[in-house]
Amino acid sequence: MSGTLLTITAPSGAGKTTLVRGLLLRDPGLHLSISYTTRAPREGEKNGREYHFVDLESFRKMCEAGKFVEWAEVHGNYYGTSRAWLAGQLEQGRDTVLEIDWQGARLVREAFPDVVSIFVLPPSPAELENRLRGRGTDSEEVIARRLLAAQGEMRHAREFAYVIINERLPAAIDDLAAVVRAARLRYASQYVRYPHYFAFFTQD
Ligand code: ADP
Ligand code: 5GP
Repeated sequence: MSGTLLTITAPSGAGKTTLVRGLLLRDPGLHLSISYTTRAPREGEKNGREYHFVDLESFRKMCEAGKFVEWAEVHGNYYGTSRAWLAGQLEQGRDTVLEIDWQGARLVREAFPDVVSIFVLPPSPAELENRLRGRGTDSEEVIARRLLAAQGEMRHAREFAYVIINERLPAAIDDLAAVVRAARLRYASQYVRYPHYFAFFTQD
């Protein structure tokens, strides 16, 4: 049995974490992957909840041992998705969301061609800057670096199957939920979930 796999990608500050949180509250059938990272925890972040926080040496070892289905360097830190955890989720038929950058999304598309890839755009560069500042978690230097990186990241939007514009949060969550709903209605998902309907019509 295989669950639906989704990736959600956005430039930092576009509101991806907020959107995903809203989506998960609305849809208890979705499970979020908790990535491994070498980034230091932000205030309020807890090990094992937002991320598994590890040092560079441990990350390297996991990488060499093939523990990540994808990994990437983003804004000077390393991030990776556990191969074993993801395989277990999908085998159990669980619909799973990866909140990862465009490089990781590209690797996941190669490994899982059926993945539903979603890119989140902020409504404008000025609003992106407002949100990064308003979040109050990053220094001016980090904000400047992330704004610069955003331009490059947005160039990759065309690689994704769906684009959500995060202007008004409730509307953006509705859009995201619509993509998830459509993904679950694909033939492969329906066939796995409801084999009896198909068996009914294919009996000799
Ligand atoms: P990301 O995970 O993409 O880096 P966050 O989810 O942390 O971004 O959001 C960045 C900031 O923008 C947060 O302070 C969040 O509350 C705010 N935010 C997110 N979505 C919206 C929205 N649609 N309208 C206004 N503010 C938003
Ligand atoms: P942040 O440090 O703001 O939480 O995340 C920075 C960036 O790293 C975001 O673009 C986020 O999507 C990305 N990221 C988080 N986890 C992973 C992961 O496991 N793999 C990849 N490739 N990117 C990730």
